[in-house]
Amino acid sequence: MFDIRNMVHEYFRRDEEGNVTGITTAVDHVNLQVAPGDFIAILGHNGSGKSTLAKHLNAILYPSEGSVWVDGMDTRDEEKLMAIRQTTGMVFQNPDNQIIAQLVEEDVGFGPENLGVPTDEIWQRVEESLKAVGMYEYRKKSPNRLSGGQKQRVSIAGVLAMHPKCIVLDEPTAMLDPSGRREVIRAARALNDVERITVILITHYMEEVVWADHIYVMDHGKVAMEGTPKEIFSRVEELLALRLSVPQVTLLAHELKKRGLPLPAGILTRDELVKELVKLKSRR
Ligand code: ADP
Ligand code: MG
Repeated sequence: MFDIRNMVHEYFRRDEEGNVTGITTAVDHVNLQVAPGDFIAILGHNGSGKSTLAKHLNAILYPSEGSVWVDGMDTRDEEKLMAIRQTTGMVFQNPDNQIIAQLVEEDVGFGPENLGVPTDEIWQRVEESLKAVGMYEYRKKSPNRLSGGQKQRVSIAGVLAMHPKCIVLDEPTAMLDPSGRREVIRAARALNDVERITVILITHYMEEVVWADHIYVMDHGKVAMEGTPKEIFSRVEELLALRLSVPQVTLLAHELKKRGLPLPAGILTRDELVKELVKLKSRR
């Protein structure tokens, strides 16, 4: 789905007259491969290069060095621009900037309409997409009256209606309350599980990535860590050094282990911890 090779992205800093005063290397020799159907999470604190990387996945930005391939297409090939934009759908942080229509169903239909999809098919896609994110019963409502989590699910439906192979969500839950965050993550997981859409989730909430197939942790434009959630969450000290939080259960298990309890590394859920503690107790 994606093949990123030795990719560098440089931004030019300019003064008021437009003269270049310096260069920021936002992405620094990143390699990343994503197979179709994967659920990939990208973590990293502010400024680590996550959004810049995301914008390469549908050719909003081009590499300064190296290359980015999207479903076999080079993002620098101008003839492939439309095809690339249709392959990768993007969902951003602020749902209020992404919703434009007066009614939920019109908003979701806007994308396919722009693509020139015939009217009958637009309605069919709107229905399917709203059902996929659990927002079908809100189709006749005004987006303004929805909660943040509901708005964000409408944004996801709008992208889905364009039938992308992949959806990139750039901190889609950053502005939401805990229940809104859960709704959005549940919707993203369902797209991956049920519709087999490739999902790239960028976030700094650790609890949201325990389901991912593979995690990349970015720091200063580089991939600082990568692995399965279990592998990543076994490296608690490194995550803390990268200024990332760790799920509470994982941290508790880590502290107990440091104090001498023989627990396995990388415990991700409460059930797992309880099971391991019961095992220890029955051994005594
Ligand atoms: P993140 O999404 O992880 O917060 P970004 O990709 O937004 O990181 O930013 C990475 C680095 O690139 C930061 O140092 C940021 O200041 C810089 N940067 C981002 N966008 C621009 C831009 N349009 N022009 C110049 N520098 C930018
Ligand atoms: Mg960002």
